[in-house]
Amino acid sequence: MFTPKRVLVTGGAGFLGSHLCERLLDEGAEVLCLDNYYCSTRDNVHHLLGRNRFELIRHDVCFPVYLEVDEIYNLACPASPVHYQRDPVQTMKTSVSGAINMLGLAKRVRARILQTSTSEVYGDPGIHPQPETYWGNVNPHGLRACYDEGKRAAESLFMDYHRQHGIKVKIARLFNTYGPRMRPDDGRVVSNFIIQALLGKPITIYGDGSQTRSFCFVSDIIQALPLLMASPDDLTGPVNLGNPAEFTILELAETILRLSASKSPLIRMPLPQDDPARRRPDITLAQNRLGWSPRTPLEQGLKETIAYFDAVLRRGSTAEE
Ligand code: UDP
Repeated sequence: MFTPKRVLVTGGAGFLGSHLCERLLDEGAEVLCLDNYYCSTRDNVHHLLGRNRFELIRHDVCFPVYLEVDEIYNLACPASPVHYQRDPVQTMKTSVSGAINMLGLAKRVRARILQTSTSEVYGDPGIHPQPETYWGNVNPHGLRACYDEGKRAAESLFMDYHRQHGIKVKIARLFNTYGPRMRPDDGRVVSNFIIQALLGKPITIYGDGSQTRSFCFVSDIIQALPLLMASPDDLTGPVNLGNPAEFTILELAETILRLSASKSPLIRMPLPQDDPARRRPDITLAQNRLGWSPRTPLEQGLKETIAYFDAVLRRGSTAEE
């Protein structure tokens, strides 16, 4: 008899987590979606509740959990600077205690485990574009440290569990990802600009807008994660996942204004502390080892995301009437 693979997704009701749960279910897996709803919502997985291989569990990864699973995707952690700086101590605990608890579970049940790390481990990078071999330039006591250092510590724990206990680990370093199911109040640049453009409000450019980011559409990342999980055992170190097409924040604002036919003005706001000046992934490793490259150009992904937020805003205004 066919026994489906049992997969645990922590942070499964979040932006990325909900897309991943959906994808894994479509591939035939049994999915345990675990979330404490700190900055996610059950609405993201509401459409999955009727599927018989899907199970939703309210749980905080800062506490141990006992489950029988074959694979673990550890996504649980707020990722927007606004959210992760709201309770920085909890952010660090989520990354560090969460990693220890999930690695402990992986060790007990001999599961493969994948950590979603971040391009933030490179800090304000001194090397451009960033290869996995670059150790980064992170302020260890600044406002972003709770996230950056938390994720760096989690990477260290993953590698030590692998070396010390033989756990099969995977580390994905995700670069700025965007798409449907981001929260309208997420606080990150793509969702902020789209909501502002659709509401005709000023577009908030932090600093002079010359800082760069490389934006990857969610479906490309969701395609890559199971490929990384299934990759050969020798691929244990970090792997960059992102779209190497690099844009200034001003270029992003102009593109969103054009695609949404908005007349919102641009306004300047102070640049947040330690805001990286530029960021672009070197994805040679992912291309060579996973056969993966992102496929969605920025404009196409933005159009889908604009349509999503437009529908969210329309639903909201209908609900208020
Ligand atoms: N940013 C901006 N306006 C906003 C939100 C963000 O200009 O309303 C800038 C921010 O200063 C940073 C970039 O956009 O340079 C990306 O910010 P985000 O919070 O999306 O993610 P980060 O890559 O900094 O973690």
